[in-house]
Amino acid sequence: MQAAQRPHLIIIGGGFGGLTVARGLKRAAIDITLIDKANHHVFQPLLYQVATAALSPGNIALPLRAIFRNQKNVRVLMNRVDSVMTAEKKIRLVSGDEFSYDRLVIATGARHSYFGHNEWEKNAPGLKTLADALKIRQKILVAFERAEALLSVGKADANELRRLLTFVIVGAGPTGVELAGSIAEIAHYTLRKEFRGINPDTARIVIVDAASHVLTAFPSVLGDSAARALQKLKVEVHTQTAVTNITPAGVQIGEEFVPTANIFWAAGNTASSMLKSLGSELDRAGRAMVGDDLAIANFPEVSVIGDAAHAIDSATGNPLPGVAPVAIQQGLYLARKIKQELRGKIAPKFRYWDKGSMATIGRGRAVAKLGKLHFSGFIAWLMWSFIHILYLIGFRNRFAVMSLWIYSYLTNSRTVRLITADDL
Ligand SMILES: Cc1cc2nc3c(=O)[nH]c(=O)nc-3n(C[C@H](O)[C@H](O)[C@H](O)COP(=O)(O)OP(=O)(O)OC[C@H]3O[C@@H](n4cnc5c(N)ncnc54)[C@H](O)[C@@H]3O)c2cc1C
Repeated sequence: MQAAQRPHLIIIGGGFGGLTVARGLKRAAIDITLIDKANHHVFQPLLYQVATAALSPGNIALPLRAIFRNQKNVRVLMNRVDSVMTAEKKIRLVSGDEFSYDRLVIATGARHSYFGHNEWEKNAPGLKTLADALKIRQKILVAFERAEALLSVGKADANELRRLLTFVIVGAGPTGVELAGSIAEIAHYTLRKEFRGINPDTARIVIVDAASHVLTAFPSVLGDSAARALQKLKVEVHTQTAVTNITPAGVQIGEEFVPTANIFWAAGNTASSMLKSLGSELDRAGRAMVGDDLAIANFPEVSVIGDAAHAIDSATGNPLPGVAPVAIQQGLYLARKIKQELRGKIAPKFRYWDKGSMATIGRGRAVAKLGKLHFSGFIAWLMWSFIHILYLIGFRNRFAVMSLWIYSYLTNSRTVRLITADDL
């Protein structure tokens, strides 16, 4: 007797959402092809620590092949998906090759949005991938080296020194706040005694946002606490101020033009343009509108999750935020749903459980909202550290990150300050 053919599931994206679906189907009678344009899963919440020389890329990322080494029903392909042909149940790679599916999960995350000013990107890189983080790290470290070199050869022009040692972060959400706090620590603590010409402590660090306070997704009391913590680190906080232009010479912040060589973008998000090929409804950020079963309209076999999806929180009626717990819970739900479907059962609807949110503002300071409880300062930072270690993938990484954090906390040092590209 011939064995019945197993259904084929394609998962596009090995981030939090896609990885959770694949791992949740470990023992299911289904063949999975996981396609990602990168060869690794990256723990994005700690990317800023790679960008600010506290951690190495290997501490927060693992090759997808290694993750699925023992899960025989998963085949990993490193490739970029170009489009989905929903009517034919096929996906097409940028190479032109096509694959058929019985079930499709799209978990392609988001990229930065420059609000219609894509030309700003080359002067204001954002932070989404390991490559982005390394680029930012390079820029920060090189800025201090260039300033020291200028001063050492007697070519020091005060304006040029000021430009090199000014850092502007656009966007005061968690990523912007974390970047600003860490750059301030590099300037005011880590590098303080290491230069003989410049004084890194004189670096100007500015964070700017059009919103009325920092961390708008948090209650204003926590946003205010984060702003105070930033100010203690000598970060200038400009809220209710729009960025209207970015050039190689600097950035226009409200009425002030700030000359700087170091602008980092932590503002808007946009979903992958690949979603347009679905032909279904997208929101203004390009995310696919999904129902309470996470499928797109008219194609129950096509699900979109995580940052690529516009799903409604059944408890509040608002769209779910683009955060890791949403992607993970949606991934867990889909794995369960697919297993139930394989048994001929109908799965219940997706419900999000909001466990809270956190952001850190440098060494030993954070804010956390857990239900109605608010925390700030050292306690919040301990909670933040514990949760991030817990969710980091791989035992070796957890151990390494914990040891590095303890060492950095005690010594104020940043261990990964090597400039590896020729950028002087
Ligand atoms: C710097 C930063 C800090 C963050 N901090 C926090 C935090 O503190 N707490 C929190 O909860 N959330 C945080 N987030 C948000 C959180 O990381 C995301 O919500 C989460 O990663 C979304 O998971 P996802 O699976 O939807 O997408 P991702 O994790 O982004 O994964 C998407 C995957 O799809 C792949 N991909 C994309 N397009 C294609 C294509 N066309 N073909 C093939 N592969 C493709 C990508 O390579 C990637 O591996 C942060 C995000 C960033 C960028």
